[in-house]
Amino acid sequence: MSRLVLLGPPGAGKGTQAKRLAARLDVPAISTGDIFRANVAQGTELGTTAKEYMDAGKYVPDTVTNAMVRDRLAQPDAAGGFILDGYPRTTDQVRELDDMLAEAGTALTAVLELTADTDELVRRLTLRAGAEGRSDDAEGVVRTRQEVYLEQTAPLVQVYSDRGLLRSVDGLGSIDDVTSRLVAALGDDAPAAGLADAG
Ligand code: AMP
Repeated sequence: MSRLVLLGPPGAGKGTQAKRLAARLDVPAISTGDIFRANVAQGTELGTTAKEYMDAGKYVPDTVTNAMVRDRLAQPDAAGGFILDGYPRTTDQVRELDDMLAEAGTALTAVLELTADTDELVRRLTLRAGAEGRSDDAEGVVRTRQEVYLEQTAPLVQVYSDRGLLRSVDGLGSIDDVTSRLVAALGDDAPAAGLADAG
């Protein structure tokens, strides 16, 4: 059973890798950023709240984000495991996630960290602004998002390392190479190559 968190700075490739690992492990990839963007697109109240923060490169308030994740993890497809992409991002979210899992009688099985050089990330995010038209990939916002990550999310690496859950992987290189490194880092938690399609 895989109950994973994927950590890493904006632009490190979390979304892409989470989807590939999810296909391989046959669990849902749960991206808080994707859920927020879907709500923005649908014009929901949650979307209206989230957009204000997202466009500024800031984090959506914990109360809003935690409630949303609690709902999502309660869906039947998450009962057999999951990969969280972009959550938790604050120490308060770590505590909330601990509580949600404890209530379900479970816990995380591993935390994967994608590491990458900041200059390379800013380059990647600026390219994505053109390709995907994400309003939070504008240049000033890209810088803010890196700063917010360093300030609020980077400390989570130590938290999970102290728990013996952390597995750090070099996030630079081809998409296939990084997926291979993640699978290797999972070791026995990942099915052998050929049993499932990495996608
Ligand atoms: P992402 O797609 O993961 O880069 O997320 C895009 C944006 O959604 C972030 O810059 C935040 O504004 C918001 N967001 C996503 N996940 C979280 C979270 N766990 N806590 C707060 N805000 C989040």
